[in-house]
Amino acid sequence: MTTTPMTSHTSMVRSSHRLADGRPIIYFDDTPPYSTGTPRREVVDRRDLGPAEQAGQMRLDALTGEWVAIAAHRMNRTFLPPADECPLCPTGRGTIPSEVPSDTYDVVVFENRFPSFSTRGDDGHGTTLLSGEPLWPTAHAGGRCEVICFSSDHGSSFAQLDERRARTVVEAWADRTAELSAVPGVQQVFCFENRGPEIGVTLHHPHGQIYAYPFVTPRTEAMLLQAERHRRATGGSLLKDVLEAERRADVRVVHAGEHWTAYVPAAARWPVEVHLAPHRDVPDLAALDDAERAELAVVYLDVLRRLDRFFDGVERLPYIAGWHQAPVGARRELGRLHLQLFSVLRAPGKLKYLAGSESGMGAWVNDTTPERIADRLREVGG
Ligand SMILES: [Zn+2]
Repeated sequence: MTTTPMTSHTSMVRSSHRLADGRPIIYFDDTPPYSTGTPRREVVDRRDLGPAEQAGQMRLDALTGEWVAIAAHRMNRTFLPPADECPLCPTGRGTIPSEVPSDTYDVVVFENRFPSFSTRGDDGHGTTLLSGEPLWPTAHAGGRCEVICFSSDHGSSFAQLDERRARTVVEAWADRTAELSAVPGVQQVFCFENRGPEIGVTLHHPHGQIYAYPFVTPRTEAMLLQAERHRRATGGSLLKDVLEAERRADVRVVHAGEHWTAYVPAAARWPVEVHLAPHRDVPDLAALDDAERAELAVVYLDVLRRLDRFFDGVERLPYIAGWHQAPVGARRELGRLHLQLFSVLRAPGKLKYLAGSESGMGAWVNDTTPERIADRLREVGG
């Protein structure tokens, strides 16, 4: 497929405001009138919300060395409300005021009302011991959880956005990555989308999430360890070398662009899985240049649309899309930006469950081959 990147995205206006309980909300406007800067957006949230929810605590799992966030307050969060009570639609469209106190928006980001991680409520005690036991370190679950709405159209999906809007989302991800990386205590920023009730999505409105973690996540820890070993053994950059090997082999490449390549990884673990990596070494979305951002909008839409054609009769493939970014502090040079996109659907109406081997042992069994996944993704190209 050919890519026709936009030359720039200068007609977008970003404006930052506050919700009634003090949480930040940021608009990324790419259509008139607000994209022109005149008039400026006025945002007044008239709800009586009370104080914003605080995050809970996190505890270190002594057996694995991994932090677990204990966020019992999230049990109260909104679960599959009727469309006219959608908290992500513009206010005025439904029967109750939503989280977005405006009658229109293009792309909007706000802090999650029920956060797993938040700097709010931190008593400043740092790490303490549960029951005084050294085996049980516990700390405030600092960081930030944000929601990003890709469109004000409740029935839409990311794959249905036009290029301009996809580019605005890329700009919003880059903006949030840069800003959240600067929040004291944040060690890693993760932009992701859960799509489909099969993934456990609690709201149908097209949206994603952005987590700023106060630690380096287990998956990133594992990848950094591998990258460090690879660097010691070969002097090379692991993620770059994997990308170049995929391009050389050209067996599982789904889309080869000027700045980006999409490929099914050689050891794919999910029934549908594709990775998307930039050709240049960049640590995170904020470091992408204009040409890379423009092509990303095009390539990402192309890959998402292939996913929706993957299985005959499945118009919207449930998926998880996660942006792996370099950690903010130590070992940043070992990380490299890439997207991991995968589905739990192995056939129409059939889910891959993470059962004994995967959930209990972390040992994966894939029922298909990565080459077969790649063949199908190439076959269903636009
Ligand atoms: Zn909605």
